Formats: sequence, C-alpha cells, structure tokens
Amino acid sequence: MNIDFNDIEYLTDPDEITLKADSQQFLLSLAVPTVIDIKGKQPDRCRVIITLLHGNEPSGLIAIHRWLTTEFPEGQPETNLRFIIASVEAANASPLLTHRYLDGGMDLNRCFGSSHDHEYYQRANLIEQAIRDVNPEAVIDLHNTSGSGPAFAVSPLISAESLTLTSFFCDFIILSNIKLGALMEQDFGCPTITIECGGTNDEQAHEVAFSGITKIAKCPCLSNCHQQKQVDVVYKPLRLKVKPHRSLSYSTHNEGYYGVTLTSRIEQFNFGGARQGQLLGWLDEHGLENLELINDVNENVIERYFTVRDSQLVCRTNMRIFMATTDKNIALSDCLFYIVQLPSAEPL
Ligand SMILES: [Zn+2]
Repeated sequence: MNIDFNDIEYLTDPDEITLKADSQQFLLSLAVPTVIDIKGKQPDRCRVIITLLHGNEPSGLIAIHRWLTTEFPEGQPETNLRFIIASVEAANASPLLTHRYLDGGMDLNRCFGSSHDHEYYQRANLIEQAIRDVNPEAVIDLHNTSGSGPAFAVSPLISAESLTLTSFFCDFIILSNIKLGALMEQDFGCPTITIECGGTNDEQAHEVAFSGITKIAKCPCLSNCHQQKQVDVVYKPLRLKVKPHRSLSYSTHNEGYYGVTLTSRIEQFNFGGARQGQLLGWLDEHGLENLELINDVNENVIERYFTVRDSQLVCRTNMRIFMATTDKNIALSDCLFYIVQLPSAEPL
C-alpha cells in the first residue's frame, strides 16, 4: 500500500451525509488521517481528542461518531473541539479495525518527539502540529487494551485538571515516566492524558469513551470543574518483558515449553491484581533469566518482584497488574504486562 505520509484531511462541523450511517462506514469514507473541527460556544478555546493512533482500537472512533451524530446536533460544545482520527489506512485494512499498524509499517504511537521526519515520523510530526495549531487546553488520546480490563488513564504529569479529565472516564490514573515516543509524552503546555478505555470488543469500553467525550464537551472550565469521582493515582509502573529471542506460550498448565509460558487466564489479573505467592505461569530451566523488569535507573529488578517455585513463575509481592494480554504479538513486541508494587496491607 502506498501511503502519503504528508496528507491530512480537514472537516468542519460535518453533517449527517458526511458522517454516514455508522462509524465503520464513516471510517471507510476516509483515506488519510482526518481532523474534525467542531465550533464551540467559546471559540477561542479548544480541546483535542485523538484516537486510532492504533488502528485496532475502535472505542474512540465509535464514541466520536456517536457524539457527532447524537450530541452535537443537540447543541454546541462549551469550547471548540478538534477530533483527530489518526491511523486511517491501518484501521481500514481488511479485516476492518484489526491492524494496530499496517504490515511492514510502524507503530505510530512510538514515533512522536523524534528527530526523524520521514514516513511514520513525518506523520507523527504532522499530527503533533495539528494539535499545536489550536493551542489546546487539554489533549486526550483514546485507546483500547488488547486484553480485557477496567478503564484507566495514563499521563506523565498529574495535575488538578488531569485528575478532573480522568474522572470523566474512569477512577484511576497511572503516572508513567516510561519514554516510548508516545503522543502523551509530548509537551503541549496543557494536561495530556491517554485513556485506555478497556478491551477492544468491550461494549463498556465504547460507553466509557462516549460518556467521557460528552462530559468534556459540556464542561465550561476544566480548572473550575469538580472531579466526577475520586481518582486514585498509581505511581510509575514497570514493564515485564520477555528477553529477546526467547519464546512465549500460553497454557492452562505446565507443558514444559521453552522460554516463558503464561497462564491463559492472565487477563483476569487486570481486574484484581495478584497477591504474593500467586502463580502466573511457568519457566524453562533458565528461570527468571528469561525475563526482565527494568526500573527507572536501568536496573533489572525482576528478582524483587518475582520468584521461581519449582518451574512456576510466582509473585514475590502483592502487585497491581495492567494491560496483561493473551495476544502473543503484542506481549512480545510491547510487554507481557505492567506492574506496580502494592504495600502488603493495601487491599488488591
Ligand atoms: Zn493503543
């Protein structure tokens, strides 16, 4: 597929003909990254909501389309809104909404803030510029997790406004200092948060995204607006990774596979966390050598958090687990899951 990395389409206050009958038909009518501008009651202020940086994460698209076709006709939002539908080509590749990025392409949400300016980096730079152009007072990036789990926010910075924004969607935010080249790591001079709305096929995740967009549109002033609910802050997660060139499997019991085998029930720990002594999978004779857990001073701290009992991979401490997935490609290319340690007295 030939991609024009220099192209962005702009729509203003789209009508129902432009928006088509549903979000999938609307998506299919787009050819390149598309910016949708909505005029608000206070036109000198703007909030940006971006989605489909990953082409297989549909909640943001579904919610934006629903908002444009049901809420927007009822009246203007409080401020201008700029919606950005990013990886249109990947999302439109068949089967629809199943490609995080195109075969042979790159993960767009790892290409921001780079000194490169070709292909996917160029696209990331264009999107970044489309955000800066409106001098936003908030940037919200909507995603789905590949496994199922509750919605949560992630941000490199916590402020009253980012907590308020988070409360529109969910009840906890992860303060992350992990640098991957993601959009939210860029400094737009305003609160910038990622929302992981929940699993890709989760109706509830689409609802989380829609209800959050509706609340943002109705909020006259983020700094005066009260939090909708209490938001917990979770500090600095670590990423559990399989070392390069080691194999990964999923199973319900120990099959004696090489490398790492995770329990096929791993996604359930996204909901409740895991206690000290919890079995998460099995390891070959290389044990914890198969895995790495790098902290913020670049040490591998795997042995502080995990241990091996016979050939079982076991938690050494109580921990919260995020984004565990049984999607092997994601688990190998990104990470198995994220963890934060919990004090032993804290309920999971
Ligand atoms: Zn994503």
